[in-house]
Amino acid sequence: MQKELRNKIFELRNTGMGYKAIAKELSLTPSAVRSVCTAKYNDPDLYGTCKNCGIRVKQTPGKKKRQFCSDKCRMAWWNSHKDDVKRNAFYTFKCPCCNSEFVAYGNSKRIYCSISCFAKTRTKRGNEQ
Ligand SMILES: [Zn+2]
Ligand SMILES: [Zn+2]
Repeated sequence: MQKELRNKIFELRNTGMGYKAIAKELSLTPSAVRSVCTAKYNDPDLYGTCKNCGIRVKQTPGKKKRQFCSDKCRMAWWNSHKDDVKRNAFYTFKCPCCNSEFVAYGNSKRIYCSISCFAKTRTKRGNEQ
C-alpha cells in the first residue's frame, strides 16, 4: 500500500473513525484498513501502551518513550501509585551525630536527623578548634 494512503488511514484513525468508515472514505476494504492499523500499532517503536488505561500511545522516534496517553492518565496513575512512589523517594540515613537511623523523604542529601543534631555538630566542631 502506498505510504500516502497509509498515512491517510492513520490520520483518519486518529480522529476516532472506525475501520469501516475509513475504508468507505478511502475506497478500501475494512480488513485492509485494519491490517494497516494493527501492523503499525504492533510496532513498539511507534506505539507504547498507556500505563494507566492501556491504550496505544504514539511514540516519537528518537524521543523519550511516552508512558501515558495523556496528562489525565499520568495524574491518575501517579495518584493510584502514590505509595510506591513515596517508598522509592524515601532514603534511610544514619545520623553521624546521635547515630540514630532516620528516613528523609525525597532528599538524598540529608546528613543529620534533625536541626538540633546539625547544630550540635557545628558547636562541637567549633569547640574542638
Ligand atoms: Zn491512558
Ligand atoms: Zn541525630
